[in-house]
Amino acid sequence: MPQLSRSVLALTVAAACSHPQPKAPPAEPVTPAAAQPAPAAVPPDPYAALDAAGKAITADFLREQITKISSDEFEGRGPMTRGDEAARGYLASQLQAIGLEPGDGTSWQQPVDLVGIKAEMPARWTFHRSGKSVALSWWDQYIARSGTQNERSAVTNAELVFVGYGIQAPEYGWDDFKGVNLKGKILVIMNNDPDWDPALFAGPTRLFYGRWDYKYESAARQGAAGALIIHTTPSAGYPFQVVQTSWSGETFELPTAGEPRVQVRGWVTEDAARSLVALAGRDLSKLIESARHKEFAPVPLGITTSLAFTSKVSRGKSANVWGLLRGSDPVLGKEVVVYSAHHDHLGIRKPDATGDKIYNGALDNASGCSQVLAIARAYKALPAPPRRSVLFLFVAGEEQGLLGSLYYTLHPTVPTGKIAADINYDGGDVWGVTRDVTYVGKGKTTLDPLVDEFAARQGRTVKPDQFPDRGAFYRSDQFSFAKIGVPGLYLHTGTEFVGRPAGWGREQIEAFEKTRYHQASDQVQPDWNFDGMVLDAQLGFAVGAKVAGGGPLPAWVPGDEFEAARKQALGR
Ligand SMILES: [Zn+2]
Repeated sequence: MPQLSRSVLALTVAAACSHPQPKAPPAEPVTPAAAQPAPAAVPPDPYAALDAAGKAITADFLREQITKISSDEFEGRGPMTRGDEAARGYLASQLQAIGLEPGDGTSWQQPVDLVGIKAEMPARWTFHRSGKSVALSWWDQYIARSGTQNERSAVTNAELVFVGYGIQAPEYGWDDFKGVNLKGKILVIMNNDPDWDPALFAGPTRLFYGRWDYKYESAARQGAAGALIIHTTPSAGYPFQVVQTSWSGETFELPTAGEPRVQVRGWVTEDAARSLVALAGRDLSKLIESARHKEFAPVPLGITTSLAFTSKVSRGKSANVWGLLRGSDPVLGKEVVVYSAHHDHLGIRKPDATGDKIYNGALDNASGCSQVLAIARAYKALPAPPRRSVLFLFVAGEEQGLLGSLYYTLHPTVPTGKIAADINYDGGDVWGVTRDVTYVGKGKTTLDPLVDEFAARQGRTVKPDQFPDRGAFYRSDQFSFAKIGVPGLYLHTGTEFVGRPAGWGREQIEAFEKTRYHQASDQVQPDWNFDGMVLDAQLGFAVGAKVAGGGPLPAWVPGDEFEAARKQALGR
């Protein structure tokens, strides 16, 4: 484990933490309240004030907040709904009660313009080739939304072209399009990115190239009329059911800014893709195999389709909710450490088997909001505010594509070079205390030794993303911050649970994803245990407080994909 240099350790966290001879005590047993009186012979603990303040983060507080934020009263917090507005009001009232200032000095909310789009997709989508046809049925075989913000969308006699991964990445010498004219075509695209070679697209780790957002943007850059992603559970990282619930009903975007758009963005199941390419006399597995080589070139399928649909387009607002703890230093106080958690979820949708239609989003992401509220309380429990300012930011529209965080990064309260770090919470540990903590984004920034240091004080180890193939770094709000160069930290549930057999943690996480994730059943359960979440929140508090205490701004490791954006933000 990397050790901190003495000079870094000696930086004060808060006024009360300025002892000259810092020495971390030996790792203590895992317990939510890590601070214990030091034996008389040991020098005073430089982090005593941090540990004491961290005790403001309690399991009872987290349970109470998660229960409230995920209650039916807020109707699943769908963007631009009554529940959204009520939940935002509640969060703002909590920030005020904790004793923070409004995020921009005047208002508790940063309005975010949204466009809501509800496409009426046909029950069957038909594809033709030489007198034969295949019709895919909505929901079971295909899911699609409008790619534009227009009330009418159409593609006429468009040809399907298989484009492999649909990736153009000069840094890996990879271009699936090979200069082929794809204007007006419908691209059939594999999910994920090449994952078999560590020298290509970071091996099994999913990069942005492997995300659906990239695929549709990439297709639009080619002037395509539409894009269909082939869903498989391993390549998406989740079952088709998640596509069904997340992509049906009303979806939201920021207003367009003139970027290219496809008319239709769709997903097809693997079986549906197989029957489609079979219409062209092709074998899906062989096509997929051919796409695993740099020499791959687009394969026209000779299949055509026409599609016309209308969309209900509504314009309105949601908002980011924010509260500021002003830093004590006249210079460093102009810089800010951001804690973020998305407040939105999926709202009211298709009822599940029990008839429940409120998607409460307890774990996703009432748990993240509650951790950030708890962390704000811990900051207020410090003897003095840290030198840098701290912004507690509850962002809108994450489920719709990280919209609120994107909006904040386009309209930040301080210049982007003055945002020290983003510590993001999306989901939390509801299964108990772990011996490890997952750090999504580990290895990317200079925050690593701090995370290791404070986790060790909890008697815990830090592990990288345990499901790297799922691209978690690009799936929550720290990604919006990374795009403008801000180093990000995203802490997630560990997998080694105290008192449980090996493998139990992964089973819980996988079972949650199967039975509750993005479903109406993501509700607080009587057996949920918040002791591990307390530790994860205390860890993010300690790391953020250390950064807020002073010292150099966190940075990306040399060569990281986001280093250039940071340099630009810092004017270097
Ligand atoms: Zn979600």
